[in-house]
Order: sequence, then C-alpha cells, then structure tokens
Amino acid sequence: LPLVAICGRPNVGKSTLFNRLTGSRRSIVGDEPGITRDRIYGQMEWFGREARLVDTGGVVPDDEALIPSEIFRQAQVALEEADSIVMVVDGRSELASPDMELARLLLRGGKPLFLAVNKMDSESMYWQAENFRQLGFRNVVPISAEHNGGIGDLLDEVFASLPEPKTEEDFDETPTEVMMTEIDEETEDSDGAWTAPEALTEDEVRDRLEAERDADRLAAQVYLEDQPTAPTERPRMLRSHGEHVLKETKVAIIGRPNVGKSTMLNALTGTERAIVSPIAGTTRDAVDEVVERGGHSFRFVDTAGIRRKGKTKLMAEKLSVIMARKHLEAADVSLLVIDATEGVTGLDANIGGYAHESGRSVIIVVNKWDLMTKVGKDGMRLWDGKPPADQKIYEQDVRDALKYLEYAPLLFVSALDGKGVDAMFKKVELVSRERRKRVTTGQMNKFLDKVDFQKASVPMNKRVRIYYMTQAAVAPPTFVLFTDKDVKMHFSFERFLANQIREHFGFIGSPIWFKIKARN
Ligand code: GDP
Repeated sequence: LPLVAICGRPNVGKSTLFNRLTGSRRSIVGDEPGITRDRIYGQMEWFGREARLVDTGGVVPDDEALIPSEIFRQAQVALEEADSIVMVVDGRSELASPDMELARLLLRGGKPLFLAVNKMDSESMYWQAENFRQLGFRNVVPISAEHNGGIGDLLDEVFASLPEPKTEEDFDETPTEVMMTEIDEETEDSDGAWTAPEALTEDEVRDRLEAERDADRLAAQVYLEDQPTAPTERPRMLRSHGEHVLKETKVAIIGRPNVGKSTMLNALTGTERAIVSPIAGTTRDAVDEVVERGGHSFRFVDTAGIRRKGKTKLMAEKLSVIMARKHLEAADVSLLVIDATEGVTGLDANIGGYAHESGRSVIIVVNKWDLMTKVGKDGMRLWDGKPPADQKIYEQDVRDALKYLEYAPLLFVSALDGKGVDAMFKKVELVSRERRKRVTTGQMNKFLDKVDFQKASVPMNKRVRIYYMTQAAVAPPTFVLFTDKDVKMHFSFERFLANQIREHFGFIGSPIWFKIKARN
C-alpha cells in the first residue's frame, strides 16, 4: 500500500488529524518524560482506495519544543518512506521557524507535498490559509481536524497524488468511483460537520468584515510577493507582419467565481488567432494569450489564473480577489465581469474597488445578458418571470452600486453566445488610448481658468490658491496641482475636479490621479 506521512511541529494537531484519518486513536499515548520518539502507523481508506499513514512526530508530548534534530528526523522519515507528505501547520498561530525549516527540507525532497492548514473551524476562516502560501507549497488545504472540516478535500488531493493500485483486487468499488475527485459539499455540510455560526450583532459583523478585509489585503500581499508577476511594462510598439506596427494592450479579466470569466476569455480569444505565450521568469505557470485584431494586439494576462477555481465556495471567492489583484498588476485595462442575473454583489464591489485603486482602466462587462432577455410565449422574460430587463434601468443599478467606477464604460454581453465580443475589443482599444493621452500645460491652464469652483460641493480650501496644474504622467493620467500651501484634497473636491477634467478631455475608462505640490 502507498504510504502518506504527516509532519509538523507539536501542537499543530498532527495526532488529531492522524486519528481523524485512520478512524482510531494512536496506539500509544503518553506524556511520561523520556518516552520513545517513534513513528506511528495506521491505515486509511477513501472511496475504496487504501493507504498507510505514518505520524512522523511519533509519541512526543505535545507541549515539547521541536528541536532541530527532531525536524530533520521527521523530514528524513517522510522523504525516505512516504509516497506523499502532508505537513500540518496551526492556522491560528503565526508561522514559527520550525515550520519554515521543516517546509524547506520537505520542499527539497521532490515528493508530492500538501500543506494542511489546521484549526480552520469554520468555512469563513478558510481564506486565512492563503497566508501560509509563503511556505512555498503549491497545494494548500484548510482543514479542521477536530471538527472534520476540509478533510474530504485533503483526502481527494492526497489520494490523487498516490500511485494507482496495480491490480483490480485493490479496488473495493468500480474504477469510475475510485477516480472521483469531487465530493458533494452539500453532503459534507448536512453531515453536521460544521457547527452553525453564532448569531452576531451588527457591530460584530462590521468588525469581522473589516478584519477580514484587512487580512485579505495582507494575504494578497503575501501571495503577490511570493509569486512575482512579470514587471508591468508600458504599452509598447510591436513589429509584426513586416510593415505593420501594432500597439499592445494587456487585458485582465477579473470578477468573482462563475460570472463567466473563462467563457469570456474563450469568446475573446477563441474566434481569433490566439498565440499562447508564457512569460519568462515567473514562478507559477502564468500564461498569456495574445490576439491580434485590427492593427492592435491584445494580451490577455495569466489565462491559467483566470481559469483557476477554488476548492470551496469561500476559497474560490477569496482566490478570485487575490487573482484579481495579481492580474491587475500585470495589466493596463481590466474587464470587470458582472453576472447579469445576480447584479452587483459585495464581492463584485470589492474587486471593483481594487481595480479602481490599481490605476488600471476599467470596463464593466455585464455578462449573461442572454438570460435577461429571453422572452417566453406569454411575453414574459424567462428569468424569474419578470419582463425583459431594461438596459438603462439596469445600468443605473450597477452604477449606484459601483459609484467609484463612474468613469468606466459599461457593456452588456453574452460570452456564451459570443455577443458583444466586437464591442469589448473596441472599448479596450479606446480606453487603452485614453489612459495614455496627454494634455499640455497650456490646455490645462486654459481649462482651469474656466472651472467654476463654486460648484464644488466641498471647496478645496478657501485660503489655498492653485497657481497652475500640469499633467505629470500618463497611465493613469496624473495631475500635479501647484498650490501655495500643502493641503490634502477632500475626496469630493477631487472627484469634482476629475469630473471637470473628464468633461473637457475625456480620459474614458481611466481613473485620474492628483498630487499636490506646495510652492514655497
Ligand atoms: P468563471 O468562474 O468566472 O470563469 O465562470 P465560467 O466561465 O466558468 O462560467 C460559469 C458558468 O456560467 C458556466 O456554466 C458558463 O457556461 C455560464 N456562462 C458564462 N457566460 C455566460 C453567458 O453569457 N450566458 C449564459 N447563459 N451563461 C454563461
């Protein structure tokens, strides 16, 4: 039988996991000093397949510090004996140096590795497992050994990595069932594996959401630092087909799970000649697809990442945020995909917020519009029985929910039917041109003279004088205001000024950034 090893420092929950997987308690339990540090073997079974399990920690009092030689011993046992290795960390505490040391040793061994982030006692904690990616493991699974959470996911992955049984006798069930890699999450839930979350007050909910958002940013930061993308380049001129000169725009398709990102990528690249090009120097398998069209080249960034799906709904959602941030970093223009049948959700708004802050141009793409317009014989729309949706009204709802993206063009498309593909390419080209536009200082100051600052709902500051304004950068257009005092612009003044600039100069689809420079 194949052998799976469990490694990890004390207290992370190795024994609990061992007992959970083998369905029995470890044969020897003791906390007497000087007890032998031996490994413990057991057997486990998953969808008719069997494997042996070894707890490399052996019998060691759980509160004992993990000494370096013990780490080496664990890693050695695992690497020598096991077919697959599960390293366990405590998801509720910070990474300790023994964790890192053990990870480093295991990663050198070249065996299939899984990081089980333990003590994730409810699904709402699952995203925290992303923090542990910094250990360098590709396969990270949040689990709760104690409450039987995520164990099925872990077993799916571990068993998929094990050598196939050699003979029919090894199977208890039919081969198709043995090959199953997805378990029904519904069943897992109804098993009572999860305790219902306690009722929270509104304040607690808000605090928790805030904490989550902060931690999300941190997780994303860790992820981005850990796996650097290719440096963002300025859009450049490409020589191709001899005489033709192409402009290239890097496009990110972002959005929460199931809004239709992959389908859209297919629609955008499938009908055209798509060249798949891996970016050199990236650690993950980042793959771009390039489409040439009408003298313009469109590079869809990290198409492998666009297709990436999380294991659980929550993980998929957290991952979609992390991937959105990563993709934005490598892009000039983003397509923020919304599911028309669901409207703008909190997660859409969150991802849209990152797009806005990133300085990339944004196009809001309302996908699955086909489902909103199918009309039955009785003249009723098929989708929940209402009349066909009115695009004007729908757009207003989207704009109300995504106020900070007021500059983003909005398109209604159906990726599945290939409707709106032309429009998307045209808009991407337009906003990519707009974000690189330059206004001369002369034009800018003629404009500034005409602005009626009385109309700003919040004055910048009565005593502050703007001497002049100049465009300091493109992509995104960035303006420097030279003033007599160093002040911070009120955001609603900033918005007023940005809108005035847009009215005169466009900059369609791009955020506008400001800087203040006090002239002494
Ligand atoms: P992703 O997770 O954002 O990449 O979403 P997928 O591309 O996997 O799409 C999720 C589901 O929505 C799939 O079942 C698609 O077939 C479906 N879908 C995607 N785009 C459309 C569309 O324009 N119309 C309809 N009716 N379904 C769509």
